[in-house]
Amino acid sequence: MAAMGETMDLPHRRPVPHRPDVAVLGAGAMGLVAAVTLCRAGLSVAVYERAPDFAQSAAWRSGGMLAPECEADGSEPVVVELGRRSMALWPELLPDVSLQGTLVVAPPRDPAALARFARQTTHHQALDAAGIAALEPLLADRFRQGLFFASEGHLDPRRVMPALLAELRDGGVPVTFDWSGDPAALTASRIVDARGLGARDRFPDLRGVKGEMALVRNPEITLARPVRLLHHRYPLYVVPRADGVFMIGATTVESDTAATVTLRSAGELLTQAYTLHPAFGEAEVLEFNAGLRPAFPDNNPRIEVDGRTVAVNGLYRHGWLIAPALAADVAAMILADRTEDAHAHHDQR
Ligand SMILES: Cc1cc2nc3c(=O)[nH]c(=O)nc-3n(C[C@H](O)[C@H](O)[C@H](O)COP(=O)(O)OP(=O)(O)OC[C@H]3O[C@@H](n4cnc5c(N)ncnc54)[C@H](O)[C@@H]3O)c2cc1C
Repeated sequence: MAAMGETMDLPHRRPVPHRPDVAVLGAGAMGLVAAVTLCRAGLSVAVYERAPDFAQSAAWRSGGMLAPECEADGSEPVVVELGRRSMALWPELLPDVSLQGTLVVAPPRDPAALARFARQTTHHQALDAAGIAALEPLLADRFRQGLFFASEGHLDPRRVMPALLAELRDGGVPVTFDWSGDPAALTASRIVDARGLGARDRFPDLRGVKGEMALVRNPEITLARPVRLLHHRYPLYVVPRADGVFMIGATTVESDTAATVTLRSAGELLTQAYTLHPAFGEAEVLEFNAGLRPAFPDNNPRIEVDGRTVAVNGLYRHGWLIAPALAADVAAMILADRTEDAHAHHDQR
């Protein structure tokens, strides 16, 4: 496999036309999902990523929770709808996406938090201690009440991003990392601008919302699905990865500055994980990290057409969740324009 930082040289690549149908800017959650969707729709695609690898994106540091119902707590209906549509698309995009649902619990001394969350959301099932234990034996006797959101899922961005890249590569899509070119000089018929926070030149009202996270490992801990622990000050979630690794996330800090993790946030993340289960106290800390989520003032995503460019941005805290539906909308727009162009061309002859 070619190293990142260079255009992928592919053994089975389709000949890349001199003028691809679509150039995708950005290989984060939105760019990768859009590129795969456009490619599967039969368009020729080229991808341009500014960074030398995926690690600079918000996507790489994210939880990867696919939780449209839980997002109803604090998000507008448009996000929930995009999320629900995306849940129907994820299994096609990624056949082994995990669809084990989400478990939500609250500390026994805080039943009001669970009641409030239940009021804000739908499509959940109330669980008692036995129900929680049946779903997650690790949590037996730790929580008296919970909510189960059966239609939700999760993915591991650090597995999924290379997998999507591999699909693009196998389909003959040139993917250029370390790219610092001028979009105006690209010859593609259409440009999909999925640069996340890198698109502030286009969207002056775009802001970063910092999310801090930790990765820990304890092979003795087993969880099948993301678990959210409600707390009035420090709500937290734990997302299982493979091999006893867990992502603990995430803070939400209105901060646009360098993505560093504060000592206070690190302490909160680890303390809440320990509250979920003391076995986290024995876990090895693998990584602290922080990403900046691209957000508009209303925290809703936006698709904006400007000449040959379709810009998609503002995916905020649910980029993985909503990217497939947004990508489907972008693909539909581009395909419709192509059909119109073809008809116009035909009529002129
Ligand atoms: C801690 C944390 C936890 C999260 N948890 C979840 C979760 O559980 N579920 C969920 O759905 N979402 C989650 N998110 C949100 C999700 O990560 C974002 O919504 C998503 O990554 C936004 O996708 P994006 O492609 O717009 O931006 P990004 O993922 O940031 O990707 C943008 C890409 O564009 C590239 N770029 C920038 N400028 C240029 C340029 N000039 N030319 C070319 N490329 C450029 C960047 O290098 C980057 O790779 C989380 C985020 C954080 C930080």
